[in-house]
Amino acid sequence: MPATVAIVGRPNVGKSTLFNRLVGKRLALVDDTPGVTRDRRAGEARLGDLRFTIVDTAGLEQAEAHSLEGRMRAQTEEAIAAADVVLFVVDARAGIVPTDEHFADLLRKSPTPIILVANKAEGKAGEAGLYEAFGLGFGEPVALSAEHGEGMASLYEALLPYV
Ligand code: GDP
Ligand code: MG
Repeated sequence: MPATVAIVGRPNVGKSTLFNRLVGKRLALVDDTPGVTRDRRAGEARLGDLRFTIVDTAGLEQAEAHSLEGRMRAQTEEAIAAADVVLFVVDARAGIVPTDEHFADLLRKSPTPIILVANKAEGKAGEAGLYEAFGLGFGEPVALSAEHGEGMASLYEALLPYV
């Protein structure tokens, strides 16, 4: 059984871009259980010689019918529960915003190992955000540009102990 890696974080940080980079066209079958589950997408990821199942989450934008905090909690907790390790993605350009802190609070309570990923870190614009991300308390963030494919070797190193 390949390990399962969940991508978690607020909307627009680049979760799906990272998912697509890791999966390419190798989409796995996802069950169509109604409810929060439909907001998750699974695929067979490849990173160097690593093979794992990767799960993308919608953040918040596709959820409905619950309070903001309730939706975040339900989707994040569902994804974490099914995962061997979680990629907690933040936006190095935008820096840390209150919604990131909410996710951080949930993730801190989880026994699942968390790898903090600061995406959109290409160029100089991401430097301040990297420093802010460090302040979340999940250790040194993996600086990544999912869009440009930078930092994938660091992501590999971070995932290696878990997959
Ligand atoms: P999600 O809502 O977290 O799934 O985020 P998406 O993957 O849909 O990306 C949101 C936006 O950020 C899109 O416009 C992407 O093109 C952009 N984006 C994703 N990764 C990067 C990156 O590494 N650098 C930059 N500059 N933009 C990115
Ligand atoms: Mg997305």
